[in-house]
Amino acid sequence: MNKITEANFIIYHESKEGVTMLSNETFEKLTILADAAKYDVSCASSGVNRKNQGGIGNSAAMGICHTWASDGRCVSLLKVLMTNNCVYDCVYCINRQSNDIKRASFTPEEVAKLTIEFYRRNYIEGLFLSSAVEDNPNSTMEKIVKVLQLMRNVYYFSGYIHVKAIPGADPLLIREAGYLADRMSVNMELATEEGLKLLAPQKPLKKLLLPMNDIKNEIIHAKENKGYFSHAPSFVPAGQSTQMIVGATRETDRAILFRSEDLYNSFKLKRVYYSAYMPVNSGELLPSVQTEPPLLREHRLYQADWLLRFYKFSANEILTDSDLNLDLDFDPKMIWALRNMEDFPMEINKVSYNQLLRIPGIGITSARRIINQRNLKLIDYDSLKKIGVVIKRARFFVTCNGKYYGDKTFTPEYIKARLFDGSPYHQMTLSEVV
Ligand code: SF4
Repeated sequence: MNKITEANFIIYHESKEGVTMLSNETFEKLTILADAAKYDVSCASSGVNRKNQGGIGNSAAMGICHTWASDGRCVSLLKVLMTNNCVYDCVYCINRQSNDIKRASFTPEEVAKLTIEFYRRNYIEGLFLSSAVEDNPNSTMEKIVKVLQLMRNVYYFSGYIHVKAIPGADPLLIREAGYLADRMSVNMELATEEGLKLLAPQKPLKKLLLPMNDIKNEIIHAKENKGYFSHAPSFVPAGQSTQMIVGATRETDRAILFRSEDLYNSFKLKRVYYSAYMPVNSGELLPSVQTEPPLLREHRLYQADWLLRFYKFSANEILTDSDLNLDLDFDPKMIWALRNMEDFPMEINKVSYNQLLRIPGIGITSARRIINQRNLKLIDYDSLKKIGVVIKRARFFVTCNGKYYGDKTFTPEYIKARLFDGSPYHQMTLSEVV
């Protein structure tokens, strides 16, 4: 087995010619820093662990992730850290100062050159650049800015670039980065001040929220300028995002969801990503190293987040004072409906678009189709399936022209029993959230 396959580096599986373009030292750094970057899930394809078993492709390998550009295109990115040398000691993090791991740092010139070389070979379409805090926030942010300057002003690269804003760095540096990058993110990591105090004491909540606020204000400012001058520069046109770790502390889903709602409302975030805690360190403040990552919980949080962003639910409706965590057996919209049975059944031919969105089994597309079709004729039960409604779930919660098609018993327990057939739980897709 040669060095390339040992490193399991996806880029080099495809072409051995690529090896010649890197010195051993650069290759070694790339292996360390692309591997260290895999714990950041702010890219859509991160966190998958299906391995290559002799075929082609490898979703578990580090190095490349995917995201959506502001125009909706899916782009592949070189995903790498500037450095994994960190002066901070966040308890959950593989790169923390107290860990005895291989360390490496790129220069800005190396990152820019690598990205361009990979782009020219058609391996990637853009860059996702994160970093540990080497020396101090300002010097780290300066290096990130330098990469952006090289990419945009020396190589004239117009592709997608996502960079981290380092909390504690000078706002002017973050501002400079934002006018060159497509997306920026400040990692929240933990939803509450208490959680941060416990596991990331060098990153207090205020220090994380300040750059998010600055980015939001500059986005608004740049958009206003565009209104006056069409050539005014864009500031992070793909918006800002963050990620939160799920399961490293005892934070409830309610606390996490309230934080997400606040981030969406106060800082206009485009996305909050959730990352099931992976035990890479041990210590009395952390869950056991044997603990499996809480992937189902992460999945439920994504479904609840979807309800916040697209279905006009508030966090308070999804989880109440007495329901602090999301149900693992049923999706959050179903649980909300079962908790609010007095609102059902709803007459499909009468209720508003927003009410339709609250019915389990009806999603955004089917709600729109119902509204459009209702303008032409009354909708009967048989047409619901053609419209795309998931009848198995919706039938308990609707009437069509006054007729109810669910079973006579109309209690949450009965509906749960009918929906849950007793077979082992299967992982639902995001589209099943409707
Ligand atoms: S600052 Fe970032 S890289 Fe450094 S220890 Fe904390 S989470 Fe890890």
